[in-house]
Amino acid sequence: MRDPADDPGVRRIPAPALKGAVARLFTAAGCDATEAAQVADGLVEANLYGHDSHGIGLVPTYLSNLRLELVRPGQHIRVVADYGAILGLDGHKGFGQAIGEEAMNLAVERARVTGIALVGLANTHHLARIGRWGEQCAAAGFASIHFVNVLAQPLVAPFGGLDARLATDPFCVAVPHAPHPLVLDCATSTVAYGKVRVAYDAGRRLAPGTIIDAQGRPTDDPAAMCGDPMGALLPFGGHKGFALAVMCELLGGALSGGQVQDRRPQPSPMINNMLSIVFAPDKLCAADEFARQVERLAAWLRGSPQPAVGDGIHLPGEPERIAARERERTGIPLPRPTREALAGCARTLGTGDADLFLLPTETP
Ligand code: NAD
Repeated sequence: MRDPADDPGVRRIPAPALKGAVARLFTAAGCDATEAAQVADGLVEANLYGHDSHGIGLVPTYLSNLRLELVRPGQHIRVVADYGAILGLDGHKGFGQAIGEEAMNLAVERARVTGIALVGLANTHHLARIGRWGEQCAAAGFASIHFVNVLAQPLVAPFGGLDARLATDPFCVAVPHAPHPLVLDCATSTVAYGKVRVAYDAGRRLAPGTIIDAQGRPTDDPAAMCGDPMGALLPFGGHKGFALAVMCELLGGALSGGQVQDRRPQPSPMINNMLSIVFAPDKLCAADEFARQVERLAAWLRGSPQPAVGDGIHLPGEPERIAARERERTGIPLPRPTREALAGCARTLGTGDADLFLLPTETP
């Protein structure tokens, strides 16, 4: 699997060191130690799993959102509706890493009693990598489905349209399985926006069919999404990805008790709304039978002839574990623009960690 670690300007930094440095930034910015550690853990885990788009490259944006009061430290979920198996929660613009964990704890607690919990979580700052919430449910023995919308600057064109109207509205399904859960977790756009930024920072082109420019013309240059006026990401799978995004808006946005995207908010609030269905898988299929079915499916799929050069055949969730094994060993690869931005945050907040991100020879 290709890793951006090969790009010039990339340095690998061990995950534990990054977690500590990121937590110190959020503590210095006003979070308590628990919340700062939750934010740092969630972001660094995204890097470990290979999703740099949702990793510590987001720290400068989160810190700027704190200053703009688009995210509020020290928030907890509030229960706004409780019908037993159906719960409505409000995240009060709290950090998604803290609010998401609380919400999924409550969902699991409820599903233990009822067998299934349907939880609407509205009005939370960026929930980041949605797979984290599916994995939290799976670790407690529950399968889950998550529809999410994003209230932010629109980035994705509707199928048939030439400008951005939707966000990258992610969708996730996670099922418990040993040694790790099976997890489908993806944006409904061709790629998450952060991956365009990662490509831009690393000076790489995008795969054809990923974006259009501000005039609606196809391009592979990530710069078309990093300036003003901005182009648009395309939905994945043409009309199907677009239709799924609409369902993320309706279920994740409206039916969670939140809102759908209908404007270009300035500044971009980076709010997520999420509808989660959390259920006990062994109510319908015994756990050992499910494990057998997974093995049969995996064996059948992996039996497909494969090209001489390729990454192999994987079940959803496997690529993340492969990336994590490698990055736990070799460190998190960070391109220079990301490291410079993090060093700038460390200097501004006086955490003393600038040298972790930039070598003395790299000081700008
Ligand atoms: P992606 O295109 O890398 O797809 C990831 C999914 O595909 C994973 O489930 C992975 O296991 C699976 N996968 C990847 N390669 C595979 C293979 N060869 N075989 C089988 N399965 C494979 O992800 P993305 O769309 O770029 O999204 C990245 C992250 O961004 C996700 O974690 C998503 O939740 C997050 N995101 C968050 C928001 C938000 O507002 N919070 C918005 C958009 C995306």
